[in-house]
Amino acid sequence: MNVLVFIDHVDGHIKKASLEAASYGAQLAQKAGGTAEAIALGNLTEDLATLGKYGIQKVHQVKNDALNTIDAQVYTKVIEQAVQQTGAKVVVFSNNSTGKLVAPRLSVRLKAGLVAGAVALPDTTNGFVVRKNVFSGKAFANVSINTDIKIISLNVNAFTISATGGTAEVVPFNATVDAPKVKVIDTTKASGKVSLTEADIVVSAGRGLKGPENWKMVEDLADSLGAALACSRPVADAHWRPHNEHVGQTGVAIAPNLYIAIGISGAIQHLAGVNRSKVIVVVNKDPEAPFFKAADYGIVGDAFEVVPKMLEAVKKVKA
Ligand code: FAD
Repeated sequence: MNVLVFIDHVDGHIKKASLEAASYGAQLAQKAGGTAEAIALGNLTEDLATLGKYGIQKVHQVKNDALNTIDAQVYTKVIEQAVQQTGAKVVVFSNNSTGKLVAPRLSVRLKAGLVAGAVALPDTTNGFVVRKNVFSGKAFANVSINTDIKIISLNVNAFTISATGGTAEVVPFNATVDAPKVKVIDTTKASGKVSLTEADIVVSAGRGLKGPENWKMVEDLADSLGAALACSRPVADAHWRPHNEHVGQTGVAIAPNLYIAIGISGAIQHLAGVNRSKVIVVVNKDPEAPFFKAADYGIVGDAFEVVPKMLEAVKKVKA
């Protein structure tokens, strides 16, 4: 059962989510007895041979300026050609913004079953059963795919990257590339120094901070931890912070290793976007705040006293 992994990139660098997908695809190929190959579109500055470290044997690269802009229809047709030419039976995406655009389209074109939001390797002992998150991460569903070609999009941070060494063979892939219908007119860099969806640590704050003028201490804490910034929805609605920082059911869904929530009540709509975080630390002055039920560590206290102490402690550890 040959596996083809789609490699996503930003600013010429392979996204961490794609390294997770590569590790997943390689382990699946090993388990099911097939090859693990990858497809990368556009001009990357990072050496694709490094994907060998994650178990990828061969990388097909389509270097074409038209692919530097993500146009889902154009991407889908190129990946479809790669699936046909490599004879892959499983295609793995990361369930990130690009994966969410392309995987369903590819599923339609190839008449292939798709499981979006996978969290574990498929069980291949009796068919092909993939475990995925449902109800905003509150439950799991085991979904069986019985089409000839199968597509899996893997939840971000759901699978551990394993680097065992090795170098992948990088080969050019001659694909027919349509002219993109999407034209990028302007690009705005998201606020914050670290990308929210790629971050290992996220520091987030809510209405408990009283106003935008109090974010300096949150930014300082995020900077000291090398973390991305996030916020609750009312904070973005009130224009205290930009909307691209809003996490939750109607915002960005994240799954960092560490999520620090300051002055956020923990409403179900907020939790829906953050409850896949590995460790959750909550700072709230109300001991009855619902967020404490979802927390691994809770600090009952006033954010204006606790956050400066956290910052001091981080600086001490780093010194
Ligand atoms: P509040 O609920 O006002 O909570 C503030 C918290 O700060 C309180 O727990 C309080 O005890 C604490 N606090 C106050 N002062 C301090 C202090 N000095 N120190 C420490 N703690 C303090 N919300 C989202 O976040 N994301 C979403 O995607 C989202 N989608 C939604 C979709 C729908 C359809 C609906 C209806 C709502 C959605 N919401 C979403 C809103 C959600 O229901 C909550 O209203 C929101 O998450 C509350 O934000 P908050 O915790 O910042 O504010």
